[in-house]
Amino acid sequence: MAENSLPPHSRRMEAGHRLSVLVPRPFDGPLDYRSDRLLVPGTLVRVPLGRQELTGCVWDGEPAHLPVDFRPVSRGKTFAFAKLRPISAVLEHVPPLPDDLRQFIDWVAAYGLSAPGMVLAIALRVPAQAGSMKPLMGWMRKPGPLPDTLRLTPARRAVLEALEQGGPGTTAMLAAQSGASAAVIRGLANAGVLEECLMEVPSPAGQADPDHAPPTLSAEQAEAAEALVAGVEERTFNVTLLEGVTGSGKTEVYFEAVAACLRQGRQVLVLLPEIVLTAQWTDRFERRFGIRPAVWHSELGQKTRRETWCAIAEGRQQVVVGARSALFLPFARLGLVVVDEEHENTYKQEEGVLYHGRDMAIVRARLVQGAVILVSATPSMETLVNVQKGRFRHEVLEARHGTAQMPEITLIDMKEHGPERGQFLSPLLCESIEERMKAGEQSMLFLNRRGYAPMTLCRACGHRLQCPHCSAWMVEHRRRRILACHHCEYTQPLVSACPSCGAQDSLVPIGPGVERIHEEAQARFPDARLLSMVSDTLTSPTAMEEAVRKIASREVDLIIGTQVVAKGWHFPDLTLVGVVDADLGLGGGDLRAAERTMQLLHQVAGRAGRGTKPGQVMLQSYAGDHPVMKALLANDFISFMEQEAAQRRPGFWPPYGRLAAVIVSAPKERQAEELARLLAMHAPRGEGIQVLGPAPAPLALLRDRYRYRLLLRTRRDIALQPLLRRWLDGAPRKNDARIDVDVDPVSFM
Ligand code: ADP
Ligand code: ZN
Repeated sequence: MAENSLPPHSRRMEAGHRLSVLVPRPFDGPLDYRSDRLLVPGTLVRVPLGRQELTGCVWDGEPAHLPVDFRPVSRGKTFAFAKLRPISAVLEHVPPLPDDLRQFIDWVAAYGLSAPGMVLAIALRVPAQAGSMKPLMGWMRKPGPLPDTLRLTPARRAVLEALEQGGPGTTAMLAAQSGASAAVIRGLANAGVLEECLMEVPSPAGQADPDHAPPTLSAEQAEAAEALVAGVEERTFNVTLLEGVTGSGKTEVYFEAVAACLRQGRQVLVLLPEIVLTAQWTDRFERRFGIRPAVWHSELGQKTRRETWCAIAEGRQQVVVGARSALFLPFARLGLVVVDEEHENTYKQEEGVLYHGRDMAIVRARLVQGAVILVSATPSMETLVNVQKGRFRHEVLEARHGTAQMPEITLIDMKEHGPERGQFLSPLLCESIEERMKAGEQSMLFLNRRGYAPMTLCRACGHRLQCPHCSAWMVEHRRRRILACHHCEYTQPLVSACPSCGAQDSLVPIGPGVERIHEEAQARFPDARLLSMVSDTLTSPTAMEEAVRKIASREVDLIIGTQVVAKGWHFPDLTLVGVVDADLGLGGGDLRAAERTMQLLHQVAGRAGRGTKPGQVMLQSYAGDHPVMKALLANDFISFMEQEAAQRRPGFWPPYGRLAAVIVSAPKERQAEELARLLAMHAPRGEGIQVLGPAPAPLALLRDRYRYRLLLRTRRDIALQPLLRRWLDGAPRKNDARIDVDVDPVSFM
């Protein structure tokens, strides 16, 4: 029976309040609980759920802040008040989640069709460990004279002396210092001489000084900085794209906007695409502002996390640099969000709750009337279109800072200048590396592929080693002596006999991974000091810091790495970049393959010649005529993006239309296929709406589940979410089959 239908008198008789509480579970919305006290939304509480007890958050009523299109159909059933379970406890010591963070959580959930509770779970990763957040309470002397009636025994006097000398302390501390018992201390408290106080008075995080060491900006930089500062000073929502060639000083320029935000007493969030970049970034920040910022990523220890979380909630921590999950921190006064390398795909969260960090950064800033700065040398098509439409502002830095010039880019046609069989470095590239070594300069080889070889083939029977759980080849990792699937966690030891025909020593590695390039470079340049920069060996910021230090102090001649080397590093003595396989990203042919390859290669090229010596970039390619290669050689990013736009516009491909992927998966192929077909039959129809598929996914088997994909594509003026909701709410829930939705997909696997 619904609450409303109860007669009024029976309602009045119920003690307490009905509370909406969002819990970190995949329900449609918050659940109702009962509480003696009325608690404001945002308060964190412990609530029973089944036999468990969870940390949840008191939630709001209707999500009125969401556009109508986004609102979930229903927020679950209303239960009779008498049937509601009471909340178990209130987390008094944890700062409540601010309004704008709750709205943000609702938004992320509604946009991506995720359960709001699962989005909340990201924000609750810290306070969920509620026990550990209880503050330590102690005693201090109540100000004013001692009451006349107080009997000052020697034990009591000792406690008061301990307080005078050592300051406030816990019962245990005071007892140890004074020799008095706990009862004596309690007696003093009862007599009104002591009062309770917080022992862990959180130290203020220290203030970043906006005027600590400002750089002298060039005229071009100063102009851009001024515009960014103005954006912050407006104190309203606005987005600016800061576009500038690699090495043009984009960081120095947006630091001025950070300074402006600090002067307002508001907080700043800076997102980086990879946590390994945080070390170099925090160093730079410290040089500019005289203090280290807070860092936020998955590798922090619990204690640091907790302190950082509270300091941000209480507004003591002014600047946070981190990965996309930092968007869910409880900022008290957020004023500016910077998204560095905004075009990076790593901003897309691809597991669990799917969201795009860049897009959600914009949403977060809008909810607090804050400014956003998107930073890139090669902005995404999405962002460029928003600039064209006048939604985003645009500041451009044309020149590299100081005397540094843009590197010269050349192409090595591998059809003509390819290496000998079984090798992967062209003689032309090797000669150049040698020259650089002679000149005492550093070189870098880039190959975006981990491991030794991407495929292993049996020469006797043609069998290829494949993951038993995925439709993917096993990748040899020779150093770790394993074969690994790059799509699931499956690994196996290296094998000597073919598992199919049993032939001995017939297995050969096909194609290069970065380990194989390392081996070839070692043989080719025996005197060179090599360093691998690969994401699976340099996983932590500290390991990366050490590698960066070695490069900077010139203990390295040749760096060999995967995409992690392409990021925003600044190595002044690095003058040659060799791209081992410039064509690599072009295969697969998804929507953004060319754009992504262009961005990646441009970025890796940008590592060369950042100091005083000019840089050179050599692209090994079999596809010299490809628009990507032509654009790179001509350094003409604009025409390239115009061509791309021309290809996407007519078919309403993003960003000219909207796209959502629907992935159906099941343990049996037939189940997946049947459900996918059923979905296709009930697909939304109408003008400007199109459903493509179903088709087996390129990764047709992943973690033992067969996968089919459908794509819903609409015109820009048609919202996807309500279509998806209606479509999928009506879908049959079939045994083990699952339907996953990916709004604005980045991966098409
Ligand atoms: P980008 O992010 O555009 O690639 P950076 O901000 O990393 O460029 O700048 C490249 C290098 O030039 C850095 O070492 C930076 O400190 C330096 N630099 C840029 N602008 C200035 C400036 N105005 N004064 C001093 N050094 C600068
Ligand atoms: Zn696998």
